[in-house]
Amino acid sequence: MAENTELRILVLDDELLMLKLHAQMLSHLGFSQVSTSQSGQDALEKMDAGPLPPDLILLDLSMPAMDGIEFIRRLVDRKFGGRLILVTGEEERVQRTVEKLAEAHQIRVLGHLSKPVEEDKLATLLRRWRPPAGTFEIAWKKMYSPEAVRQGVEGGELTVHYEPKVAIQTGEFVGVEALVRWRHPKDGLVVPQQFVSVAEANGLIYPLTRFVFSTAMSQSAVWRAGGLSVKMAVNVSVDALSSLDFAGFAHEQATRAGVPPKDVIVEVTESRLMQDLRAPLEVLTRLHLMRFQLSIDDFGTGYSSLTQLQDIPFSELKIDRSFVHRGSSDQTVRTMYQTCLGLAKQLKMTSVAEGVEDRNDWDFVLASDCETAQGYFIGRAMPPEAIFPWAAKWRERVRRGFKNEG
Ligand SMILES: [Mg+2]
Repeated sequence: MAENTELRILVLDDELLMLKLHAQMLSHLGFSQVSTSQSGQDALEKMDAGPLPPDLILLDLSMPAMDGIEFIRRLVDRKFGGRLILVTGEEERVQRTVEKLAEAHQIRVLGHLSKPVEEDKLATLLRRWRPPAGTFEIAWKKMYSPEAVRQGVEGGELTVHYEPKVAIQTGEFVGVEALVRWRHPKDGLVVPQQFVSVAEANGLIYPLTRFVFSTAMSQSAVWRAGGLSVKMAVNVSVDALSSLDFAGFAHEQATRAGVPPKDVIVEVTESRLMQDLRAPLEVLTRLHLMRFQLSIDDFGTGYSSLTQLQDIPFSELKIDRSFVHRGSSDQTVRTMYQTCLGLAKQLKMTSVAEGVEDRNDWDFVLASDCETAQGYFIGRAMPPEAIFPWAAKWRERVRRGFKNEG
């Protein structure tokens, strides 16, 4: 049983007795890397702090404070790639529902066990489990602590990558979206999902946004000098928009770099627009008056009403990736896509399809009247020096009509 010693298992249960019992069984079955937690919060903290996430979690569904369902949701946020065994005193129907929920989020459930767990049943489940080596740690995205994020933001460890946007009908390269990255001294390049929400919750989003905005303006100036005049989109958090001097700052940065505001797109996430909009509304209106373009990001994930959308002078609507990718084969995705597109037309906004990941997605958006697309099929976010080589390659792909591309 040599391989058992390499697998990391976490037992999560609010009852100390169960915790000890189950850990003992696992060690009896030959697993030596077993850790235990008495609450979901504690488990997440340990996982975020530790070098590697567990390969398997024995999860008690009914716990006070954070229950098993919420814990699963937190695992989804962290792109947990390991397996679960659900341990519960609940009836089987509940177990099956939770199992479906986890699998809907692509977290694999090995099975469920009733309390108290019998060792032979646990052993049977574990025998069915043969994880492929080395894959889980790649998928895992831990969240960083506020102190670590502060060091990243204030210590000059941020950098900006650019994801290309193209006109769907002509294939023309029309713009880029600036996306923040964190050059972590130990973990390498960290994506925004792992730290932006932490920055927002800890008063760090304004310095972060200012950094990305001014870097994007300088980069835009460099590209313009090199003959590339594409639109520059920058994500601006609603929290940063609550700071009344943001419009003045943005205007000053664009002017200094010689970038006309009409070529700068300020993207605001739809789901965040539902909150108190008084200060953001004022800043958005001022940005609009300065001729910056406003774009509503991840559209379809929030619940904005038509009236709310009409209140803010948005000129662009970005259809969330979950309503684009697999649109050719999934009826629900297709319906949502058409709805978002229709709404954009009605509000006289141009549309961007996010998450065009493969040839099927490209053909799907090509058959619609959406204007712009971005996603892996076109190009991933890249450092600025990679943009010119990418553009040359993209032109060639368009010229060949994507021949021999899946
Ligand atoms: Mg965006």
